[in-house]
Amino acid sequence: MAKKKAKEIELDLSSNWDYAPSMESTGHIQLKKKYDLFIGGKFVKPKSGVYFDTINPATEEVLAQVAEANEADVDAAVKAARKAYDTVWSKLSGKERGKYIYRIARLIQERAREFSVIESLDGGKTIRESRDIDIPLAAAHFFYYAGWADKLDYAFPNRNPQSIGVAGQITPWNFPMLMIAWKIAPALATGNTVVLKPAETTSLTALKLAELFQDAGLPDGVVNIVTGYGQTGSHIVNHPDVDKIAFTGSTGVGKLIMKSIANTNKKSTMELGGKAANIIMEDAPLDQAVEGVINGIFFNQGHVCCAGSRLFIQESVYDIVMRKLKDRMQALVVGNPLDKNTDIGAINSKKQLDTIKKYIKIGKEEGAEIYQPNCTLPKKGYWIPPTLFTNVAQSSTIVKEEIFGPVLAIQTFRTVDEVISKANNTPYGLSAGVWSDKGSKVFNLTSQMRAGVVWGNTYNKFDPTSPFGGYKESGHGREGGLQGLEAYLKFNA
Ligand code: NAD
Repeated sequence: MAKKKAKEIELDLSSNWDYAPSMESTGHIQLKKKYDLFIGGKFVKPKSGVYFDTINPATEEVLAQVAEANEADVDAAVKAARKAYDTVWSKLSGKERGKYIYRIARLIQERAREFSVIESLDGGKTIRESRDIDIPLAAAHFFYYAGWADKLDYAFPNRNPQSIGVAGQITPWNFPMLMIAWKIAPALATGNTVVLKPAETTSLTALKLAELFQDAGLPDGVVNIVTGYGQTGSHIVNHPDVDKIAFTGSTGVGKLIMKSIANTNKKSTMELGGKAANIIMEDAPLDQAVEGVINGIFFNQGHVCCAGSRLFIQESVYDIVMRKLKDRMQALVVGNPLDKNTDIGAINSKKQLDTIKKYIKIGKEEGAEIYQPNCTLPKKGYWIPPTLFTNVAQSSTIVKEEIFGPVLAIQTFRTVDEVISKANNTPYGLSAGVWSDKGSKVFNLTSQMRAGVVWGNTYNKFDPTSPFGGYKESGHGREGGLQGLEAYLKFNA
């Protein structure tokens, strides 16, 4: 009997088992066939007359059509925002503004499941992430900044903080709702009005948020949402009556925007690209470190500006870390974003898939060694298995350039000085991670890392109270925390 049991266990361990699918339902989702622009508190047809498809990148099915705003549409949105600023929003007390922002936060919480599912359908990210990270954090930002709305004089004592006016905000597709919350919540708390353009591949949660603003009774024109491509964004940037540009996106577009506003009085915050170093010291808790590396680069398909895309392993633990990393990668589930077991969802668009494939090809051509676990990818949609490269150098293209996909480049080091100089040898400076058992080592490394955010023994942790932003080509200005409020204020004292 005992012998039989041992055999059964043996068989069980050697069998190729999988989790049964656990699908999030979509029954509660209501999407319109066609979405207009949200201007002056109403959905209005675009003057351009043009609509484009937004698709589910996991199935390539069209989810809805979205309006493409032209210059005249953007002008109408800016006029609505100016009118709301002059007549209503700048005149309200902080306490009253706070009430609206709290209401928005509570409504996001109430409708969290709806927002999470739409985020995963439209963007390809796993339901686990949108449900547990994106949407709760978006609500948390509204709650946090609602609390500051009537306390600006305490936040900035003796500085007489004043709102700026109309804020033009442009967001990317990797954290659609969260990036919107990072921008709209502090803008409203400080008394500004908004014209926002979400990324063209992920407009749906922004448009759902517009419906929620209506439900919250937010005065007309306080937030206007214009959808479209880069051209729509550039109409916002170049509009003479926009007082501030808050941009999150690629470094290339960030530079273009900075050139456009160089001769104007527009204020700006730029949250741009990154190529973060994640450093494992030989005394690190290796299992946690490996989990942190997995989270740092494969989380959200590597569509993370602060992704730990360059891994540095101290030479003495290289072999063991590589074994653990490959074993862990083998267990990652790639597939349907709505399955709660999925670790890696769909790549956001065909364009981004092609970019990632291009970099994988370059990596191989430059002589790097590739590892991808065995996994079956769905036939339809845009997919990349988790990928790592070894045998790379500081000069390798895949080490220097942002890939924005689940692709990790691994190097070794011997000394602390060596890893600091390698980690800082990049035009970017958004984030970094350090893994060590010794607090003194963590502090020594973090204090020398030229990055806006440095995590110690953890990775990709966000909180509304904590400022986020970059050095060098990763941008300027901060979002989150008091610094995020300051970016929407001018000071007369
Ligand atoms: P992107 O720069 O192509 O687009 C970002 C947004 O800008 C989109 O809404 C797009 O339509 C708009 N846009 C494009 N051209 C424009 C122009 N000429 N004028 C005005 N707006 C224009 O970036 P992406 O591919 O959507 O996003 C990925 C990039 O975003 C990565 O580089 C990533 O690192 C960065 N990012 C940074 C942070 C951060 O906090 N630093 C956060 C998320 C993403």
